[in-house]
Amino acid sequence: MAELIDGKAISAQIKEEVKEKVAALKAEGKEVTLAVIQVGCDPASTVYVGNKKKACAYTGIRSLAYELPEETTEAELLSIIEELNDRKDVNGILVQLPLPKHIDENKVIRSISPLKDVDGFHPQNVGALCIGEKGFVSCTPAGIIELLKRSHVEITGKKCVVVGRSNIVGKPMALLLLRENGTVTIAHSKTVDLREITKQADILIAAVGKPKMIDASYVKEGAVVIDVGIHRMENGKLCGDVDFESVEKICSAITPVPGGVGPMTIAMLMYNCVHSLSLQQ
Ligand code: NDP
Repeated sequence: MAELIDGKAISAQIKEEVKEKVAALKAEGKEVTLAVIQVGCDPASTVYVGNKKKACAYTGIRSLAYELPEETTEAELLSIIEELNDRKDVNGILVQLPLPKHIDENKVIRSISPLKDVDGFHPQNVGALCIGEKGFVSCTPAGIIELLKRSHVEITGKKCVVVGRSNIVGKPMALLLLRENGTVTIAHSKTVDLREITKQADILIAAVGKPKMIDASYVKEGAVVIDVGIHRMENGKLCGDVDFESVEKICSAITPVPGGVGPMTIAMLMYNCVHSLSLQQ
């Protein structure tokens, strides 16, 4: 039986650490503030934004909510971001994606000051990660590194395979594993003989966006398997990109869905908000 990597417990630990840090900063007269902008009322985005606000309230981070109507223009959104970039009392700015179709997401991401880009999506932060400089790291991959470290999974020298190359998960994930001295392979939809590659992995990260695609036939015995995927099945239950039932029988450790990678994303967002203070100084 594989060990379960408990994202719920580890994320709670991180939120607790953030809460202590925020309280210590408050004692020095410094407040941490996150501005969260949502355009339109996509139900999934409303849930995510609500969870982020709750985590802010729990950790003591002040949150400023901007709930803008669907018909907000790109220019109006950019002007709000510009104002928030200039405000000394705002440390982090988060624009909930996806944005309505009439707004250019890349333009919006680039308009956020790299020093307040707590999502880590700004090209300057992506570049900093690439060359090993200080900056914000995208929350989901940063959370996965914390999951591995806090579960005492050694990364140095290990063969790591990341299935998926998106800008928010796959690519930063691969860069972070490289930073931790893993030997990293990135696979994607054009990869030939995917199984041949994934079966070499000591650490396998599935960020493929396909429910239960990675079954036991893709996994080496004893591997550590991290499931980034999150999908709602017809029966209403959640599942990941990994076929948990078959894979847990052969791997050494695995993240469940729910309760694995998911809770880490918000915990790392809270961490990034506190981190913003040191970057801004
Ligand atoms: P994307 O759809 O942006 O990327 C999926 C990646 O998987 C692409 O690079 C694609 O390759 C690759 N891929 C698709 N099909 C195959 C295949 N058959 N074989 C090999 N590679 C394939 O997804 P994201 O990176 O945004 O997210 C990945 C998963 O993680 C999703 O399930 C998403 O819901 C989840 N997620 C969970 C988060 C959390 O907090 N838990 C946060 C963010 C995402 P190509 O580039 O060639 O198209």
